[in-house]
Amino acid sequence: MFRTLDHLDARGKRVVLRADLNVPAKDGKVTDTTRIDRSAATIRELAEKGAKVIILTHFGRPKGREDKYSQKLLVEPLAKAVGRPVAWADDVIGPDAVEAVQALRDGDVLLMENVRFHPEEEKNDPVFARALADLGEAYVNDAFSTAHRAHASTEAIARLIPAYAGRLMQAELEALGKALEHPQKPVAAVVGGAKVSTKLDLLGNLVAKVDYLIIGGGMANTFLYAQGGHVGKSLCEKDLADTARAIIAKAEAANCKIVLPSDVVVAGEFAENASHQVVALNAVPDDKMILDAGPASAKEIAALLATCKTLVWNGPLGAFEIAPFDAATNAVAQAAARLTKAGSLLTVAGGGDTVAALAKAGVEEEFSYISTAGGAFLEWLEGKTLPGVAALEVKTGCGCSCGH
Ligand code: AMP
Repeated sequence: MFRTLDHLDARGKRVVLRADLNVPAKDGKVTDTTRIDRSAATIRELAEKGAKVIILTHFGRPKGREDKYSQKLLVEPLAKAVGRPVAWADDVIGPDAVEAVQALRDGDVLLMENVRFHPEEEKNDPVFARALADLGEAYVNDAFSTAHRAHASTEAIARLIPAYAGRLMQAELEALGKALEHPQKPVAAVVGGAKVSTKLDLLGNLVAKVDYLIIGGGMANTFLYAQGGHVGKSLCEKDLADTARAIIAKAEAANCKIVLPSDVVVAGEFAENASHQVVALNAVPDDKMILDAGPASAKEIAALLATCKTLVWNGPLGAFEIAPFDAATNAVAQAAARLTKAGSLLTVAGGGDTVAALAKAGVEEEFSYISTAGGAFLEWLEGKTLPGVAALEVKTGCGCSCGH
């Protein structure tokens, strides 16, 4: 349970907002404003409600104060996105910060310099967090993508002044809650991507939570090999065969059905438009590599999803960057999108290359929720507690009028 902006009486309050405005930039200019545009809703809402909005965010990975990581370049695009002027403070603590905050009137927006210019930020330092908390009377966290890090502006501060989830954080937590914490069953997970080794925790968590675990991509090869299959010169982590068998056993014990491709697309090389053929699983030639799930597998997965109510997706089913090895990812993504549109499937996806793969499949706008949070989304899929989210949680009686 967490408090949202609906529980915050923002009028006249100094509100410290942790946003994620870590956008790409080149030659002092922002090259993609997506994160700024997405953050604008919470900033605008707070300002319209009469808060004095004090924004903390980070930019890059500076080592102390480094001019090339100054956030001043964000002022203009941010002002454009929120439709009002944005004031600037040269530091997050100290006299400049205090003066800039004191100058704010109700409805004003202030962007502060890179919070990571202080090494205490990433150390979750309590004295630094106290100084950040003293800037405001309430704290709003809208940066889910940094919630897997316990930093002063994401974790310690939330324990010092009343803390709320911003609209982006709220949307993310609600989507994730519906997908795995209290999902409508049956639940399926599609897990693809290159290697098993990077997804062991994720697989271990999912087998205990979902009804069907659909494995694709290079990592499916390791599972096929572990079951005695022949994978030719495919990407395959043979040393993880025992681990794959342990995951299969854990799935069986948890009543989770593991679904592997029944046919595959093979080619002699990892290259765009490489000459390829569809073969049955037991017919992968020695000199060929598996680069995608086959058309029959894609159909089977789509049919299975039609029987499910919830889908969590991480990782492509094949080498989606190089046609035609994006075919299974595209076909299954489009089937999931159709089921979402028809209202029979809730679809939540994210992590790593998933956003790019689903965008390429043209379903970016059609899934119920696609998380751009990367590392935080993956850690959530692994079942880990995210410190920035845990700090927002209200255990018993949140002290506001919401009745929790
Ligand atoms: P990940 O970052 O773990 O989600 O992995 C994504 C990468 O897995 C993409 O670059 C894909 O090209 C790659 N991939 C997916 N299937 C295969 C495959 N069968 N063989 C080699 N690479 C693959």
